[in-house]
Amino acid sequence: MKVLANDGISKAGIARLEQAGFIVDTNKIEPENLIEGFNAGGYCGILVRSATQVRKEMIDACPGMKFIGRGGVGMDNIDVDYARSQGIDVFNTPAASSQSVAELVMGHFFSIARGLHDANRRMGDADGAGFGALKKKFGKGVELRGKKLGIIGFGRIGRSTASYALGCGMDVCAYDLHPSDEPVEVCVAGQTLEINIPFVDMAELIRTCDCISIHVPKQKDGSAVLGAAEMASMKDGVLLVNAARGGVIDEAALLSALEGGKVAYAALDVFDNEPTPNKALLTHDRISVSPHIGAATGEAQDRIGTELAENIIRVMGVNVS
Ligand code: NAD
Repeated sequence: MKVLANDGISKAGIARLEQAGFIVDTNKIEPENLIEGFNAGGYCGILVRSATQVRKEMIDACPGMKFIGRGGVGMDNIDVDYARSQGIDVFNTPAASSQSVAELVMGHFFSIARGLHDANRRMGDADGAGFGALKKKFGKGVELRGKKLGIIGFGRIGRSTASYALGCGMDVCAYDLHPSDEPVEVCVAGQTLEINIPFVDMAELIRTCDCISIHVPKQKDGSAVLGAAEMASMKDGVLLVNAARGGVIDEAALLSALEGGKVAYAALDVFDNEPTPNKALLTHDRISVSPHIGAATGEAQDRIGTELAENIIRVMGVNVS
């Protein structure tokens, strides 16, 4: 039983699969050779992240394919409905990376509250006078404790972000198309607190929050959830983070809101036009940026790999103790 992990898989995932008797191939096959390579390799299924596409053409041409596994959340690179209609098991690992994304979001908030990302860019050039000038420039930070964080999209990552923010003493509210009354768990020093987060409407969240983090999927019509009108209604000096998907915040409107001072600082892990985002965003001194690494921690990748392996073992009906 051979598995093609075309976009890679963690060592933990490989170990679990090998223990169950699978051979795991992590040599990437380029798109133009994928169908031929899959069939020639005698694979029983394919694992992908966001890079490799598995479309109807490949599904039709690969009769040996029993499963398609996606390490991560979105499955827009796979023709899921068609694959399932052909009896192929399609699965992903939606919860495995939530904590890692939430930690990145908090890292960005801590950074932009003090301008750390920009201070880091500039300190290399600081001589005696320059040091003093930078000390003055970056000496106007704010604390997060006591600030109000509004979370738009209160699913897995939104809830995990709330848990971290509560632990830092922030006041949290949420807006979601489908609000749930399930409390958020905050684990501190071996104790678990259950906190009910108030749901508010979008207008109230935007109007009252000092910090806003967005955790919605890319909207079906591609529209931005936060555009110029929403930004105009925000508190002056708001801090804004997007670690969801490029396009859920209107990037042009964000640049204007930064210029006008409405948004004090922003942080972006995701962009329109990845992997060639707008340079004006990447180089802006009041935007902290990272290259879509929300889920890219060793722990999350291990969880993803292990969860993929368990799914393959289930689909292939392997009996392991
Ligand atoms: P989820 O499905 O658990 O939660 C999304 C929530 O958004 C749902 O509760 C849904 O009802 C809500 N929602 C959808 N559209 C909305 C709207 N217009 N207004 C208000 N609420 C809306 O998803 P998740 O696992 O929490 O992931 C959230 C986002 O994070 C996704 O876009 C995902 O692609 C992204 N993500 C990014 C990274 C990264 O590396 N930065 C990693 C994983 C996931």
